[in-house]
Amino acid sequence: MLRLMCITAHPDDEAGGFGGSLRLYRNRGVETSVICLTPGQAATHRGSAKNDSELAEMRRKEFAASCEILGVSEGIVLDYPDGQLYRQDLYRVVCELSSQISRFRTHVLITFGSDGGVTGHPDHSMAGVFASLAFQWAGRTNRYPDQLKDGVTPHRTQKLYQQTADFTLPDRQPIALPPPTTVIDIGDCLEVKVAAFKAHTTQSPLWTLFESHVRPRGKKEMFHLAARVTPEPIVQETDLFQGVEEQN
Ligand SMILES: [Zn+2]
Repeated sequence: MLRLMCITAHPDDEAGGFGGSLRLYRNRGVETSVICLTPGQAATHRGSAKNDSELAEMRRKEFAASCEILGVSEGIVLDYPDGQLYRQDLYRVVCELSSQISRFRTHVLITFGSDGGVTGHPDHSMAGVFASLAFQWAGRTNRYPDQLKDGVTPHRTQKLYQQTADFTLPDRQPIALPPPTTVIDIGDCLEVKVAAFKAHTTQSPLWTLFESHVRPRGKKEMFHLAARVTPEPIVQETDLFQGVEEQN
């Protein structure tokens, strides 16, 4: 079975950034995993939460509901502090993500680029930086040798993609987006993506804005092929698994 892993920063990124592709590939029989680094406890929109820990608890439940809608095989929310990913110990975070990659043995990894996506959120940037290093280091024997026991062996993910777009948002800090190399036609999964985003009820003040951005741009999600295990020139693609070999 082919496997797809997505590494994000906040509950709702899985839907807003990657939801169409997660649902599409699950429909095609791909096993999917989402690793979210924070429970989103620093969000501006807080529902009825009285404090950060209540909001984190609510957002973990919303994440689970969104993953259910997207058919995600396993959704994991880690416990790093929302808004503070750039202050975390890089070696430790990459260690944890590397362990997740080696355990799930994904064929393809999708995440953010260092730009932070169209919102430019620094947590998105850091999720992408951590995930990119984990993509590289999970395949080596000399980075986290303590993980390589009880049958765990280094795992080389075949392709790394950064989520991207062909537009930027006005009135934001500037971002330089990775050029799209891979455009996924998500078809009817657009509706599922919107529904998954709306599973995040504490974030309901953002729903209208989200729909006003995704609906006019149509049934597509864009990615930049940032790395692959076989050195070869870039080509335009319509499938994240193009050229991926199932055995491994
Ligand atoms: Zn986010």
